Amino acid sequence: MAKRRIAVIGVGKIAQDQHLPVIDASDDFELAATVSMRGLSHNGLPVFKTPAELYAALPDIGLVSICTPPGIRHQYVREALDAGKDVMMEKPPTTTISELDDLIAHAQRLDRVLYQTWHSQYNAAVDRAKAIIAEQGVKSVRIDWRESVRKWHPGQDWVWEPGGFGVCDPGINALSIFTKVMPFPVFVESAKLTFPANRQTPIDVEIAFKSGQLHQPRMSAGFNWLEESGEIWTIRFETGTGDVVKLEGGGRRLLVNDQLVLEHGDAEYAAMYDHFADLLDRHQSDVDAAPLRLMSDVFLMGARENGPDFEW
Ligand code: NAP
Repeated sequence: MAKRRIAVIGVGKIAQDQHLPVIDASDDFELAATVSMRGLSHNGLPVFKTPAELYAALPDIGLVSICTPPGIRHQYVREALDAGKDVMMEKPPTTTISELDDLIAHAQRLDRVLYQTWHSQYNAAVDRAKAIIAEQGVKSVRIDWRESVRKWHPGQDWVWEPGGFGVCDPGINALSIFTKVMPFPVFVESAKLTFPANRQTPIDVEIAFKSGQLHQPRMSAGFNWLEESGEIWTIRFETGTGDVVKLEGGGRRLLVNDQLVLEHGDAEYAAMYDHFADLLDRHQSDVDAAPLRLMSDVFLMGARENGPDFEW
C-alpha cells in the first residue's frame, strides 16, 4: 500500500526529536511538507509559513500532525478539520476542557479522524502495570515527576505564560499514565502550586488525590522542574495484595518488589504513528480527555505559593 502523505505543523523540539524521525522511518507515512513560522523545512520538502498556505498549495495532503504549543492548538486543529484533514495532535491537547470538547464535536460533525495523543501511554510496561493493578487492586500511589526545564524546554517562554502549564506540561504525562492504569476514578483533593514570583505558571506542584473507594487509597503526586540530576519519572503503586509495582523512566521500566519485570527502549512515537494508521484504516477518532480534566482540577483546587524568580 502507498504511504500516506502527512504534513507536520510546528517544527520545534518535539517535532525534531520525535515526529520527523519517526515519520522518516515509517512504513505507513511519508512527510509531504512542513508548516513553520521560522521557515524550517525537512529533507528539502516544501515549507509554508501558515497552515492556510499549505492547504491552498497542496490540497491533496489529507493528514496533519500538529506539534505546536497547546495555546494555538484549538485554532489549528479546527482550521485543519475545516480544510477536510484528519488530524493527529500533541499533548496537552488544548489549554481548556471546553476547547477539547469543541474539537471532539467538530471532528464528529465533519466526519474526520481526530487523534489526540498521550505519548507516555504507549509503553508495554504501562500496560503490564495496568493488568497487575486490575487483578490486585490499589492501596497507595505515589507519583514523582522531576526534570530540568532548561533541558526539556530550553528557552521556551510559552511554558511560563498563562495556558502554558508550567511543570504541569510534563506532569500531565504522569497523569496520562495514572488515569490509564487506575481501575477507578480519581479526584483532586488538594494541591499546592509554587510559582516563580516573576512567572505565570508553576515550577513545583504537590497534589493529594482522593477516590470514591471505601478503602480510601493514599494517592499523591509531586512535579518539579528544577531537577538537574537527571529525570525522575516514577510511579509507585502498592497493590491490594501488598506488592510494590514501580514504573520508572516515564513508563519504560517495570519493577515488582524491586525485581525488574520489563524494560524497553523509546518506542512511544513509533507506536503512536502505528495507532494513527490503524485509526485512519478504521476511520475512527481517539481522544482521551481524562488527564486534562484532572490537571484542570489541580489548577481549580490549587493553593498558590510564590517562590524565587526563574531565569533561563
Ligand atoms: P517548541 O520547541 O517551543 O516548539 C513548538 C513550535 O511550534 C515552535 O518552535 C514553532 O515552530 C511552532 N509554533 C507555532 N505557533 C507557536 C506559538 N504561538 N508559540 C510558540 N511556537 C509556536 O515546543 P515543544 O517542546 O516542541 O512542544 C510542543 C508540544 O509538544 C507541547 O505541547 C509539548 O507539551 C509537547 N511535547 C514536548 C516534549 C519535549 O520534550 N519538549 C515532549 C513531548 C511532547 P515553527 O517556528 O517551526 O512554526
